[in-house]
Amino acid sequence: MKRFNALIEGMKLMGMHNIAQVTWKDVKLGEGFWGKWQQTNARSTVNAVYDRFFETGRINAMRLDWKEGMPNKPHIFWDSDVAKWMEGAAYILYYHEDDELRQKLEQIIDLIEAGQNEAGYFNSYFLTCEPDNIFQDRTAHELYTAGHLMEASIAHYYSTGSKRFLNVMTRFADYIEQAFKLNKTANYSAPGHQEIELALVRLWQATGEKRYLELSKHFVDVRGTDPHDRIFSVRNGTWPADPPLNSQLLYNDTYAQDDAPARELPAAAGHAVRAMYYYSSMADLARVYNDEELYQACLRLWDDATLRKMYVTGGVSGERFGEAIGASYILPNQDSYAETCASIGMAFFAQRLFSIHPDARYADIIERQMYNGALAGLSLDGSAFFYDNALKSAPAHNDFLKGVHDTRNLFPNYRRERVFECSCCPPNILRFIAAIGEYIYATEKDTLYISQYVQSNADIQLASGALHVAQTTNYPWTETVSIQVDAARMPDAVIALRMPGWCVNPSVSVNGAAVYDQHTLASGIELKHGYLYIPMSMIAGDTVELKFPMPVVELEANPLVAEAAGKVALMRGPVVYCLEAADNDFNLFDMIVLRDPQYRQDLRDVNGVPVVMLQGQAAVRSRGNWEQTLYRMGSSKYEKVAFTAVPYFAWANREAGDMSVWLQKESNLFGE
Ligand SMILES: [Zn+2]
Repeated sequence: MKRFNALIEGMKLMGMHNIAQVTWKDVKLGEGFWGKWQQTNARSTVNAVYDRFFETGRINAMRLDWKEGMPNKPHIFWDSDVAKWMEGAAYILYYHEDDELRQKLEQIIDLIEAGQNEAGYFNSYFLTCEPDNIFQDRTAHELYTAGHLMEASIAHYYSTGSKRFLNVMTRFADYIEQAFKLNKTANYSAPGHQEIELALVRLWQATGEKRYLELSKHFVDVRGTDPHDRIFSVRNGTWPADPPLNSQLLYNDTYAQDDAPARELPAAAGHAVRAMYYYSSMADLARVYNDEELYQACLRLWDDATLRKMYVTGGVSGERFGEAIGASYILPNQDSYAETCASIGMAFFAQRLFSIHPDARYADIIERQMYNGALAGLSLDGSAFFYDNALKSAPAHNDFLKGVHDTRNLFPNYRRERVFECSCCPPNILRFIAAIGEYIYATEKDTLYISQYVQSNADIQLASGALHVAQTTNYPWTETVSIQVDAARMPDAVIALRMPGWCVNPSVSVNGAAVYDQHTLASGIELKHGYLYIPMSMIAGDTVELKFPMPVVELEANPLVAEAAGKVALMRGPVVYCLEAADNDFNLFDMIVLRDPQYRQDLRDVNGVPVVMLQGQAAVRSRGNWEQTLYRMGSSKYEKVAFTAVPYFAWANREAGDMSVWLQKESNLFGE
């Protein structure tokens, strides 16, 4: 840690900030929205994921005793699933004493410790099934798996203080350095599936060993420069010898971000999860090495991903073929991809860009993922998961497709599953929620940033001392947040509060007096890049009150998003809504929201979880006289209906039925 700090001190920060997140360890969540999700995580999700991984053989694969003819043959990336579970379990154990869980975690570490080979390598598939082919096949996910194991070991170290697992993984990292950088015995240069790059930065932070940071930089620098490095040996624009998946050119250079060196990548593209993990590590390295060119590439990729290729829910992969980010503005609703892992990856990327430049647009996207794109991946009881997250669902269509395709369903599922063959998402949402405290507070010198409004308590270290901060709120259901901070202890410090991008007229008062209201600032207060900077010397009474009015709003999409043309999506505060058949006994896809829908909102239970639901007025065509008709000249009568909308993250928790985020809207073409 000492060397790490010294390097940070020595950095020449030319224009780049170096903002530190307040870690999950220093933030305690109370009984608010996320505190309750963490309880569900600790009570339900962590066990649900473990049980499925045990049943499918993922845990026992690490015993390395599988033999041909036995069930549950190990798979190349199974360890990465288990590793993410371990990471989540380690976070949970810091706050929740659970002997059985601790035992499960330590037993897996025993297996990895015992199974690691002389050189330091561990992968349950390769050590069991192909011990002679270590680091020979770039598509085999070995470095991806190694990266997740490293992240798990870091979480275990921070949670328990024990270096047992961390030491196992530094041996692995040392071996990887030998194989890829020093002796180059590996058969390829850059990982097929990125992840280890960001894990190595974290390993450097945890150990202070700069070689790990340099190895991360090596992997980022070499990517896109080695003509030998190809996924399935397919160059852009050439036809593969053995075309995968219906001859789609999925696995080309762009698929794994091999089409250009990192600093020259022109656009956000390719496999979405690989992209987000990769871009996250690029942002880490840009900050640490003060690498302006790499930073500019990150900004280019960020803008492209968030301004042209992201769903209103935050989903970041519109292209099912290749699980890819896809083309600008092509964001299909029903056959979307929007993988839960990609939403989580985008939150990682956003957090790292915020560390370089404090701009509310990054925290806005993190919030969008927290309450929508990522959270929708988990059922309200914490035991079932979406891999891909659709914005429109018609179960009758899905069931038809299941009947005619013997491969994986072409449309996203309308029910959450308990486990997947490729089960990356369940443990990813587990670890994301378990460490959600990391996204709330951040510091730089004597500035305290509050980026997310979450019921919480935190002990925070600023340059001139420690202070305690507490937030009291039922956000996102209520509009008010009360922040208590012992400001008198640190009169020279500054508190920077994010004004959410979705909020039209936020107001802030200190000691009962408004300091920001109707976009007017009191003297001494500054608004910069969406953050309101208030000197602690002004907060004599220790309390800052924030109000974020949350009327129901109708969002429209850029006109180039064909699938949302003429439609609106409902949002209240940071929460995106959808309509489900469970609440509405008419055809959702035919419904037109009235010009004045007279929105109302109330708190209701969905499967025992309180959520704010919305009601409004709409019109649907009368159903009569269509039985013998498919098409006819337009003459339908409309009837008024009342509709109910539910938070998108809460959909598919009741009986299956149609769902839609985008809704037709009664036109008001010329504003009369
Ligand atoms: Zn996933």
